Amino acid sequence: MWAAVDARRYRCAACGNLTRFDVTTTRRTRAFHHFTVGGELTVEDEEVLSEVVEEVSCRWCGSGRAVEELRESEV
Ligand SMILES: [Zn+2]
Repeated sequence: MWAAVDARRYRCAACGNLTRFDVTTTRRTRAFHHFTVGGELTVEDEEVLSEVVEEVSCRWCGSGRAVEELRESEV
């Protein structure tokens, strides 16, 4: 089971960047859409059913080729 996307850390091996990345994620969620009689929507109880990180690229290099995911023990 993957951790939530914001719990992951990355590192760019090319430039040493640890803090700035563009992360492209596909997320499938289920949420309770609560409409008022007037049609105003409130979204509640959003649950993430699946989440796939498709691409992580370094903001400094502009490339994802050298980006690696850090393990918990390395952080
Ligand atoms: Zn980089």
